[in-house]
Amino acid sequence: MSYLGRVLFILVICFMSTSWVRAEQSLPDIPSYSLSQSQQGIAKVHYHAMAQKNKTIIADFFAGKSQWPLVKASKGDLAYQPGFNLIAFQVDNDSLERQLAYITLKNQIRISSAEILFLNDNNELEFMPFELEGNNTLKVSLSLPAKDKIKVILCIKSTSHLRSSLVLYNQSGFIENSSEASFRLGLGLGGLFCLTFAMLLLYLAIRKNTVLLLFAYLLCRTCTLSAILGLNLYYLLPQYNALKGIEVPIFVAASTIALLLFTAKVFKLKQINERLHRLIQWITWLFAAFLPMSLFTPVYIDVSAIMILHSLTIIFLAAIGFYLYRLRQRLALLFSTIMVVKLMSMIVIIIATNWVDIGIAPYKAAIYITIFWIDAFLLTFILSRQYFYQVQDKEIAQKEALENAKLSESTQEQLLTLQQENQEELEQRVQERTLELNIALQELEEVNQELERKNIIDELTGLHNRRFYDQKILAEYRRSKRNLTPLSLVVIDIDHFKRVNDDYGHLAGDQCLVWLSGHIKQCLKRNSDLAFRYGGEEFCLILPETDSQGAFTLAESLRENIARRAFLYQELEIPITISCGVCTYQQQADAQPEHIFAGADKALYTAKRSGRNQTQEHKLVDEDINQQDVT
Ligand code: GH3
Ligand code: MG
Ligand code: MG
Repeated sequence: MSYLGRVLFILVICFMSTSWVRAEQSLPDIPSYSLSQSQQGIAKVHYHAMAQKNKTIIADFFAGKSQWPLVKASKGDLAYQPGFNLIAFQVDNDSLERQLAYITLKNQIRISSAEILFLNDNNELEFMPFELEGNNTLKVSLSLPAKDKIKVILCIKSTSHLRSSLVLYNQSGFIENSSEASFRLGLGLGGLFCLTFAMLLLYLAIRKNTVLLLFAYLLCRTCTLSAILGLNLYYLLPQYNALKGIEVPIFVAASTIALLLFTAKVFKLKQINERLHRLIQWITWLFAAFLPMSLFTPVYIDVSAIMILHSLTIIFLAAIGFYLYRLRQRLALLFSTIMVVKLMSMIVIIIATNWVDIGIAPYKAAIYITIFWIDAFLLTFILSRQYFYQVQDKEIAQKEALENAKLSESTQEQLLTLQQENQEELEQRVQERTLELNIALQELEEVNQELERKNIIDELTGLHNRRFYDQKILAEYRRSKRNLTPLSLVVIDIDHFKRVNDDYGHLAGDQCLVWLSGHIKQCLKRNSDLAFRYGGEEFCLILPETDSQGAFTLAESLRENIARRAFLYQELEIPITISCGVCTYQQQADAQPEHIFAGADKALYTAKRSGRNQTQEHKLVDEDINQQDVT
């Protein structure tokens, strides 16, 4: 209502007041309330509702010309209709002194204006606008003389159907109520603000998004409660009528957004059900779109719309809670229960405020605070419990990982010991095989040595054989040539050996060869002297660094030794003689080993021809060398 309108209205009322004064005697009998009681809900009133403010209706009532219906609303809650609501009652001052009467009108979000009309001491009609109290209460105070009464008409313009409590206080009652309300506010709101900022501090400490969302939710809820209880903008900017009630839908929308996001985050909906998560995001956007829209639409539409949307969201969240509970999600049932309790309490308050009186009207503020507290407390509990479960899950996972690590470590150790055992076994086997191989190698070497030995040793006599002679004579010849030392060769042949074979048998002949070989070995004095079985019964001595005289002497001593003895075979004495041929290489030019041997052979031949059992020497001459070359 504009200021001009108000002035006009007052003027009209003042103009009409003269007729009311005249009609004082015929004033209607209206319900009266005594100031002896500290606080009374004004429940029994004369009531008239109309679409437009009609001056005559008010004038007629004051003049006692018209009766308004008597309305009885229990517990002080009055039901208003859209438009103008006229409420008439009487206030009595029974005491002996002047008293102040306070009339308060609570929860006036949808009330766009309120005025009070009464007859003053001079029976003049007086007009007083309601003042806006700090805690969302319209208040007016009237001063009543001792033993006086005052008839009051309230003119309330409501934008919609509304129930609101109209309360009459005397001074002490008013003070008491104000301090009680302050206490309630302090306890309820102060506590919630503490919890909210504790959550902010917690977020700053642990930087978890769920904590931030819960902080946002609690902040919005606390602000909603604060707005409902008449603080916030009402308190800060009471002069701006347009701001009335605008906060409530905005804070409810913001708190719903925070609650939706908190639910999605705390139950990890994205992992559990992607579609449900997306749906929550869409609903969040819907509420986000509501925020700027609400600034342009009337408050009563905003309030109704947000209450419907919020209720639907709570039903939706309760359903999500049940769905998660069926998926065996921890704390989902508790969450669902909170949502159901919220919903039920909202329904109860709406019903109790608008339709059915169940006697909770005076306790509404306390009920709001209690519900907000339960909600905040249980959601905080869910968050902290969820966090606890997360930590617990992490610990269990860590323990499992540790056990797995230990298991794998022990398995590795087992594997290592097994490998070591295998290694040892392998090494042992290798050692065994190496030993076997070494033995085999040794045996092979022995066999080789034996083979080598056999290769150069004559099997019957044990002397070196002809093959070794061929190697040795060449080596000794070269050494002799290099060192310029003489090299003698003695060729020995058994005389008439054929006879031995013929007379005593081949076995005897063989034994005779062995016997002679023994004597040949004995006659060699130097280590460098070597004896060979050159052929059947022919032997050969290589005498390095031995001149012809030395060789001759050696051959002769052997021959004499043999001739002196007899070969003993099967107790038969068989006389044996040998013939020797000696030839010495004394650096004769172009002389070759075969020339030396041929020389010795020549000497042997000479010995045989000269009667056997003798030693002959052949001196190498150029002729021998040349002759050999020719042949
Ligand atoms: P001389 O040399 O004095 O002229 O007469 P001899 O009887 O020795 O003649 P000759 O050298 O020609 O005969 C060699 C004989 O030696 C021929 C063979 O029967 C015999 N003889 C050769 N080798 C062996 C052998 O290994 N064992 C035996 N029992 N007899 C052999
Ligand atoms: Mg012979
Ligand atoms: Mg012979």
